[in-house]
Amino acid sequence: MAIETLRTSQMEAAEILGIDFAEFEEVQRPKMTHLGSIAIAGVGEFDAYRAHSGPDDLIGKGGIRLAPYDGENGLRAAEGLAREMYAKLALRGHHETFRGAKGLINAEGRLMSHDQRAEVMKQYAELMDHAGFAGYDKDVPAGDVGTNGLSDDYAEKYAELHPEDEFKQAVITGKSVEHGGLESRPGATGWGVYSSHVEMMNLNGVDRATVAVQGFGNVGAWYAYHAANDPEKRISVNAISDRYSLLYTDHEDGLPINETILREIGDNGRFAEKYPWYRGDKLSAVKAVIDVIRPDMAGQVILKPNPHEILEYEADYLVPAALGNVITEKNADKIGAKYGIIEAANGPMTLRAHQMLAHERGIDILPDIVANGGGVDCSIAEWRANVDAARFENGHPETEEVQNQLRENSKNLVIALHKELKSADVKDLRTAAALISTEAIAGQLGLLKGRFTTTS
Ligand code: NAD
Repeated sequence: MAIETLRTSQMEAAEILGIDFAEFEEVQRPKMTHLGSIAIAGVGEFDAYRAHSGPDDLIGKGGIRLAPYDGENGLRAAEGLAREMYAKLALRGHHETFRGAKGLINAEGRLMSHDQRAEVMKQYAELMDHAGFAGYDKDVPAGDVGTNGLSDDYAEKYAELHPEDEFKQAVITGKSVEHGGLESRPGATGWGVYSSHVEMMNLNGVDRATVAVQGFGNVGAWYAYHAANDPEKRISVNAISDRYSLLYTDHEDGLPINETILREIGDNGRFAEKYPWYRGDKLSAVKAVIDVIRPDMAGQVILKPNPHEILEYEADYLVPAALGNVITEKNADKIGAKYGIIEAANGPMTLRAHQMLAHERGIDILPDIVANGGGVDCSIAEWRANVDAARFENGHPETEEVQNQLRENSKNLVIALHKELKSADVKDLRTAAALISTEAIAGQLGLLKGRFTTTS
């Protein structure tokens, strides 16, 4: 959610719960720390920050973004993401141990080589250590836009600085399996989005659905893969967009997103290195694979150079999984989704657009803090496994065990939100999510004076 949306939702929730909003706001007001600067030879020098939201004695949890930001506005947006993370942790019951956090490095990671980005991550670990934040019981970051796949570099630098720390593996999550990461982490957010979507369909009384997905990166590609391979064939992914194009089909099977497409093209796959003709348009590569694996669909899979049209594509559900603020009051009336929108990206919709769609058109909108929170469960499972391993307890959890737990959590959360809708005070899923997270945080901090019963 954009910060204004989150704040408005929490304000509404505080009123329903009868808690003092000013007091609640004070507890989670994000604190931004300028960690210092990172210098990369031949590229430049960049400011690095870490924002925290929640009490200081809790462990920070949140990604490190390597992307240019828009001055003060960018810093405020990162603070908003830390606060959103705190709400996300509370929704999944992790708020007694963790508080929200977000890292920010003001540089264009996309234009750097892998080694340069790895060096950025190592210097970030040093700055975190210098600020007193690094450590398994202080702040446990993760990869994010521009730093996905670089958690091992952070962990290695920390281990170099603190070779004696027995919990050194648990200082960051999203690591490779060799460094103590979980096999299920790369696909966890997409798996959570898919699990939430199936439950939304159950609650909407929809047996089979078509879907349009915006973005074919980590979240979008894994979501599309799970949806397209739904064991009961309840979902067909009929349209996908990415930065340069839109791929769609009217075929009843939808686009056949298989393992090859997912791993080689979707989640930052290595397609470009293997095929010189590929110019970075992921979906032209997806189409090339589909043309080979499904010759019977020839002529029915169409590639268009108009990615923005995905929002207007007429499908039962829309899954925005790329960028923030893509649905605004200017295009909300053109959205093609019939039943619902699953917010897989962070803050894909403005507050006004949400009002237009949820209240004026009656579309069910599953908020980002619920839909894309699956990665949080998986990250915390990784942290716990690393802490336990250092204490010689338990083993590494099985992928299936982590995935089942994540599916249960996502499912139960969607059911809990819909239950809240029975109250006249709760007019949409966004308010229901804010109500559950606000109640959890306020309860833990002793701000809850006694809840007004909202469910019947
Ligand atoms: P990513 O960089 O792996 O993927 C984003 C994709 O969107 C890329 O393929 C990119 O080419 C594409 N894209 C860029 N501009 C586009 C446009 N105009 N139209 C369509 N596609 C476009 O990033 P990600 O990790 O998948 O994150 C996507 C969103 O989900 C972000 O808002 C992120 O904050 C949020 N999110 C991610 C995670 C996670 O675990 N990765 C967790 C929670 C939330």
